[in-house]
Parts: sequence; C-alpha cells; structure tokens
Amino acid sequence: MAAERTLSIIKPDATARNVTGKIIAMFEEGGLQVVAQKRLHLTKTMAEQFYAVHAERSFYDELVEYMTSGPVVAQVLEGDNAIARNREIMGATNPANAAEGTVRHAFGQNVQENAVHGSDSPENAAKEIKFFFSDIEIVG
Ligand code: ADP
Ligand code: MG
Repeated sequence: MAAERTLSIIKPDATARNVTGKIIAMFEEGGLQVVAQKRLHLTKTMAEQFYAVHAERSFYDELVEYMTSGPVVAQVLEGDNAIARNREIMGATNPANAAEGTVRHAFGQNVQENAVHGSDSPENAAKEIKFFFSDIEIVG
C-alpha cells in the first residue's frame, strides 16, 4: 500500500484538557507521521463550511458551536493506508463504543465531544487537507 495522507483534527474538548501531545503520540505509535500541523480557533463560517456535509443532520448547529468553542489542532497524517489506519486509531464516533486502546476510548467525553476528527475517504481527505493547508505547509 502506497503512503497516503489524511486530515486529522484534535477537537476543542481535547485541547481544553491539554492532551494534544498524548493524542499525537498515539498517532505516531500507530504508524502515522505528522507532516503538517497548526493550532487555530475556527470561526463559525469555517466550521460550517468544514462540516457542510452534515448540514442536514439534527446535531449540525450544536456541532458548529462545539467546534468553535476553543482551539483545535489540525494535522496532516501520512502513512500506509493512513485514512483507514487513522480511523482505527481514533475508534468509534461514540466513545462509549470505542475499543480499548483507541483515542476516543481514552479521551472522548461523549458522542459529540469525541476528541478527534479524521477524514473518511480519499476524496474527503484531499478536500479537507486543502481546507487547512497549502502545499508548502506539508512536509513529508
Ligand atoms: P466521525 O467523526 O466518526 O466521522 P460523523 O462524521 O458521523 O462521525 O460525525 C461528525 C461529528 O459530529 C462527530 O465526530 C461528532 O463530533 C458529531 N456527532 C456525530 N453524531 C452525533 C450525535 N448523534 N449527536 C451529537 N453530535 C454528533
Ligand atoms: Mg465523519
């Protein structure tokens, strides 16, 4: 499998509890390399655009409010099969269902405040990486 890239976000509940380093260590120990990273506070417009795919979901407004409630750390992770690998390391959306050893099991609070985002397909990874990073900010 060729090296692949995915977009990761360490969400506001995790930055608030100062566990970004512990989460990054889990990605690295899981075989992924951080090839781009920035900490930023999303505006409402950015969060709405980023999660536009969920605009019709009942939790959309709440999700936008949560994602703008504090800083996030956006990252590009690179490695073999990085999109699927990252989702394995993250665990299930609802931390209550996340396997032991996953980020969401260790750090997720509830189905909304679940510590991390990870792209779910090559198409979305490409779009989401472009949303946060220019080519010169990604150094593999
Ligand atoms: P994932 O992040 O695992 O890809 P989704 O794409 O389905 O999950 O949802 C995007 C984000 O929306 C989740 O990570 C979580 O923060 C939030 N979310 C998902 N389902 C719910 C829900 N039932 N209630 C509140 N927030 C939710
Ligand atoms: Mg998703």
